Amino acid sequence: RLQRLRERLVKSNSLFGKGLLALLSSDTIDENVWDEVEETLLLADIGTEPSLELVGTLRDRVKVMGTRSPEDVKTMLREELVKLVDPGMDRELRISRVDGKPAVVLVVGVNGVGKTTTVGKLARVLVAEDKDVLLGAADTFRAAAAQQLATWGARVGVPTVKSDVDGADPASVAFEAVKAGIEQEVDVVMIDTAGRLQNKVGLMDELGKVKRVIEKQAEVDEVLLVLDATTGQNGLTQAKVFGEVVDITGIVLTKLDGTAKGGIVVAIQKQLGVPVKLVGLGEGPDDLAPFDPEAFVDAILA
Ligand code: GDP
Repeated sequence: RLQRLRERLVKSNSLFGKGLLALLSSDTIDENVWDEVEETLLLADIGTEPSLELVGTLRDRVKVMGTRSPEDVKTMLREELVKLVDPGMDRELRISRVDGKPAVVLVVGVNGVGKTTTVGKLARVLVAEDKDVLLGAADTFRAAAAQQLATWGARVGVPTVKSDVDGADPASVAFEAVKAGIEQEVDVVMIDTAGRLQNKVGLMDELGKVKRVIEKQAEVDEVLLVLDATTGQNGLTQAKVFGEVVDITGIVLTKLDGTAKGGIVVAIQKQLGVPVKLVGLGEGPDDLAPFDPEAFVDAILA
């Protein structure tokens, strides 16, 4: 997994790691060096507050260490980065049947972030784990979106409930999908939704209704917000809007293969208080992985 992550993360992430290691290995670490450390952290989109905190911690530790071997520096940096990336959050997906009903996973996010692709990839992972999965295409705004999901479903070998009418009521599709999931006794029903943020009020009404309608039949166990890592801080704004309508239980950070700003993981978790549960590392069916903070830090420091 680490090898794969290393291959997929863009080089600039490991340049970031190497840069930090080099700075902290300097014979004397003066104010200029600390400024550079701070700047390096900020450039990676870790966020101002966490960057300052980390610089403070590193300063204290360097002071205590006195002489530093390259290994000492690497161990210290690894420990502190892992703490930053993993502030002790539960990353387990809630995808087990409860009370004789399927787990329901609602997937939300702005158009283009990779929602449909994520649903397809996740379905594939679950099928490989011997779970019965059913997909619901509640992104009814574009017929193409529903078709795209159904194509993923066919590829992975799971049924997709969709409407063939453009602009059908997303809540009714979600309802039918959950109903079918209960009848067919599947393990997991995953609902793909629309994300037209331009119309904030409409989106909120729509998502709220989708959730309420599902809850007439089953609990919503997991609300995954999909964010595009390449949009950096923008993702945080999106998250706030969605967070006003639904309780987000996990983040899927897509396109981590295309950004130098891997530090956004830290900013997201810190500001939203929600764990990154999965990461997208490419467009292919196997390019979705559980988020593993230690492997992530090791890939950056490699
Ligand atoms: P949606 O509108 O949110 O459902 O987004 P889509 O699932 O249609 O994805 C939009 C584009 O992003 C597609 O071209 C996907 O192949 C691409 N994409 C999704 N996830 C990833 C990822 O992890 N890495 C890369 N490089 N591309 C991705």
